[in-house]
Amino acid sequence: MTTRLYSHPIYLEHLTPPGHPERPDRLRAVARVLEDEAFAKLDRIEAPLGDEATILYAHPEEFVEKVRRSIPEEGIVSVDADTSVSPKSWEAALTAIGAANAAVDDVFSGAADNVFVASRPPGHHAEKTTAMGFCLFNNAAIAARYAQRRHGAERVAVVDWDVHHGNGTQDIFWDDPSVLYCSTHQMPLYPGTGAKNETGAGNIVNAPLAPRTGSDTFRDAFLSRVLPAIDNFRPDLVIISAGFDAHHRDPLAEINLTEEDFDWATGQLMGRATQFSNNRVVSLLEGGYDLQGLAFSVGAHVKRLMKG
Ligand SMILES: [Zn+2]
Repeated sequence: MTTRLYSHPIYLEHLTPPGHPERPDRLRAVARVLEDEAFAKLDRIEAPLGDEATILYAHPEEFVEKVRRSIPEEGIVSVDADTSVSPKSWEAALTAIGAANAAVDDVFSGAADNVFVASRPPGHHAEKTTAMGFCLFNNAAIAARYAQRRHGAERVAVVDWDVHHGNGTQDIFWDDPSVLYCSTHQMPLYPGTGAKNETGAGNIVNAPLAPRTGSDTFRDAFLSRVLPAIDNFRPDLVIISAGFDAHHRDPLAEINLTEEDFDWATGQLMGRATQFSNNRVVSLLEGGYDLQGLAFSVGAHVKRLMKG
């Protein structure tokens, strides 16, 4: 497999208040683990700045302008209880979108079989008109629509294994059966959405996990709900909202996965991508707040992407 990695130093300049879990050190930990010799063959690319017009694929213009106006000239300002922006946040967010869209270009042009994007801020909590949960714009949703509009993809599957429900992605695709959204997440937990009976236009598959469960319930949810939905949907592209906060070390949740579970889930999705989408997998970093748990999990995930 040819695997590309996108990142950019600007991601370190999106600042959050002291003690905030979604912090620049997360990406430093990811970069450090990917320096290992095992990743020598990764095709490392500096992320491009995104095209602002593509934000409108998932968010209305008034909202985009509201986020733009919220960016301070100095310091850090809050846009909601746990989401904040600093002077470079606009450029970081636009570069996160740029990397996600470039990754879609790569898997459709054949420049790469699959791509991992190590970016901040994350995206899956950003609803059509609400920045929340550390997220400004919904990177995965924009990339899914980008694949449809620029590359003719008819059906895109977004699989979200972040421990929090991707309320934003669900909101954006709620009535859009051309995108399948599948999520495993702890429930109850922030943001409170993601019950099994939230099914949208039949294109939303939520697999909530009880607190203090682990590998067995996660894999069972994947095998019994996520993978059958993908088999039924036959996607042209698989996008992973790859959060690693279901790792047992993570301080924000109580699901006890290990890096082996992320390796396994990656392999399962790659199998589907081989079957339906010419191997095309685009994986976007979402959460993951214990630096060691995050680094080990990203390492296992990317190793699997490279191996096939
Ligand atoms: Zn999360």
